[in-house]
Amino acid sequence: MTDNSNANQQPDDLAQIRESVRALCAKFPGEYWRKLDRERAYPGEFVTALTQAGFLAALIPDQYGGSGLPMTAAAAIMEEIQAAGCNGAACHAQMYTMGTLLRHGSDAQKARWLPKIASGELRLQAFGVTEPTSGSDTLNLRTTAVREGDHYIINGQKIWTSRAEHSDLLLLLARTTPREEAKSRTGGLSVFLVDMRLAQGTGISVNPIRTMMNHATTELFFDDLRVPAENLIGEEGQGFRYILSGMNAERILIAAECIGDAKWFIQKASAYAKERVVFGRPIGQNQGIQFPIARAYAQMRAAELMVREAAAMYEAGRDCGAEANMAKLLAADASWAAADMCLQTHGGFGFAEEFDIERKFRETRLYMTAPISTNLILSYLAEHVLGLPRSY
Ligand SMILES: Cc1cc2nc3c(=O)[nH]c(=O)nc-3n(C[C@H](O)[C@H](O)[C@H](O)COP(=O)(O)OP(=O)(O)OC[C@H]3O[C@@H](n4cnc5c(N)ncnc54)[C@H](O)[C@@H]3O)c2cc1C
Repeated sequence: MTDNSNANQQPDDLAQIRESVRALCAKFPGEYWRKLDRERAYPGEFVTALTQAGFLAALIPDQYGGSGLPMTAAAAIMEEIQAAGCNGAACHAQMYTMGTLLRHGSDAQKARWLPKIASGELRLQAFGVTEPTSGSDTLNLRTTAVREGDHYIINGQKIWTSRAEHSDLLLLLARTTPREEAKSRTGGLSVFLVDMRLAQGTGISVNPIRTMMNHATTELFFDDLRVPAENLIGEEGQGFRYILSGMNAERILIAAECIGDAKWFIQKASAYAKERVVFGRPIGQNQGIQFPIARAYAQMRAAELMVREAAAMYEAGRDCGAEANMAKLLAADASWAAADMCLQTHGGFGFAEEFDIERKFRETRLYMTAPISTNLILSYLAEHVLGLPRSY
């Protein structure tokens, strides 16, 4: 791709960050990811390298040992990781789950955990919200946390808790007041920071789930897990609000990853279309090959504008719920369209492991479903932006 759009439009500091991320990612080429993908193994070395370079602590304020960078910088980091063919899904959650602790944790909690998260001594990669029975209907979750003296006793189950086997800490959403007794529709849920190092084998069990891509996801079972009351984040019963307040950051960062993926697919397809000769000419000379690449590029650029708009609004402290959701929707659509186009452009070779396309194709598809499914974004826009009746 002869695309200088980023370099031309980014302030110098972002250009520098982008360049540093690219340099780091160059040390983790396709073979590295293919081997892990085959074995469904965690990219520990890659995550360590990102942590040591300070990228995963981008959003943690300086006073807690992070770089205190704004959202646009964090989004640029995630985008570049994906555009380089790497997979940020192994570690992206730390950037946004940390925000719940930062915004709603006490000073003592922040001082206790954030410096260790920033340095990499502790990993906060696991985020336990989804449950098998309630799915997208988060308010209906069944995991309970019951106060007993200076502990909460947790019972229940989570599903799709990604990276739980590779994380020291888990940010957990559980019900502390039965739904029918809660003061409001969204009340009665609370957030806990669970130290899984202490909990393994004593109340929490972790079962890996093998998925179509290498994602290190799991299901968790809690059986009388004892969590110190001091690990409750913020006020009891306000957990849903706290989790929601982190959703915009999550949407923006994942959308930035999708833009990175789309750029990778478009670059890969353009390069191949120029060099692959069939019927005596490069396939890229045929409009049937050119047009889908050009369309994917236009779609990616349009989505990229929305991601930047959402990130800039987030950074300015403005309400960016609609923009963050639209950014996620449009970017996930753009990355999937680019993935499909790239596979088609490569003909049979697109299916060969060594081209990395089939791997990235599987990886990027996730974002139309997680961390929020496209339908739920459309419902949000219909209800909260367009004023249509609530559909669920
Ligand atoms: C690989 C992977 C990793 C994940 N990692 C995490 C994680 O780390 N932590 C975590 O908490 N969760 C995680 N998730 C869960 C993810 O957020 C959910 O899968 C996603 O939000 C969709 O929920 P669900 O799977 O329960 O689908 P369901 O809620 O069962 O929905 C199934 C389908 O029906 C649609 N649907 C449901 N209700 C409506 C409605 N009212 N209107 C229109 N359509 C509707 C949904 O959009 C979806 O397409 C992960 C999931 C995957 C697959």
